[in-house]
Amino acid sequence: MSGSSHHEHDHSLAGQVKAATGESVFNCYQCGKCSAGCPLGPEMDLAPNQVLRVLQLGLPALEEEALKAESIWLCLACETCATRCPQEVSIPKIMDYLREEALRRGVANPKAKDILAFHRSFLDSIKKNGRLHEVGLISAYKMRTMHVFQDVNVAPKLLMRGKLKILPHKIKGRDAIAAMFDRCAAASAHAGQTTGHHDEADKR
Ligand code: SF4
Ligand code: SF4
Repeated sequence: MSGSSHHEHDHSLAGQVKAATGESVFNCYQCGKCSAGCPLGPEMDLAPNQVLRVLQLGLPALEEEALKAESIWLCLACETCATRCPQEVSIPKIMDYLREEALRRGVANPKAKDILAFHRSFLDSIKKNGRLHEVGLISAYKMRTMHVFQDVNVAPKLLMRGKLKILPHKIKGRDAIAAMFDRCAAASAHAGQTTGHHDEADKR
């Protein structure tokens, strides 16, 4: 689509996406193949191509709707859309940026809270044990969300079948993994300082 160079250098959401990810939403010509193949498409309030269309239009009120959408939190980063796209637009990268931006602006969809709590609990488990400890993950998730009794009847069956281990199995080299997490956190904090952005997620 023409007119892209103008948008990519202004402060529109499309321009921010381009600067942060290298992806230009103006490469999309709205064929819809991405949305047709997206496994989460039927659950989304804005289909992947519609998210791109909103960014192409560059209207602040619509951009905010995209940032408030549940879709950006439902995206699994499965890459199906990117594989199908004739223009090689990486929607997962764009969705990832939109999630960060929604948190920075404090407009994230309320349903994002549980999804974020799950991500946080998952990463904490990896940082602590070097691998996933499912029981620790579930406990941390429930504490964060207060969904204490959700799926509680499933746990005994999984424990009986040996699918859940009460104690974590820790791998060697956990210090190296924890250091990797710390480096990522420091780089993220530095990026926040240089851009003036402060992630709302840090407060959760
Ligand atoms: S498949 Fe690519 S070109 Fe087609 S609508 Fe999706 S992002 Fe746009
Ligand atoms: S990466 Fe996200 S938007 Fe693309 S097909 Fe997978 S779930 Fe859908």
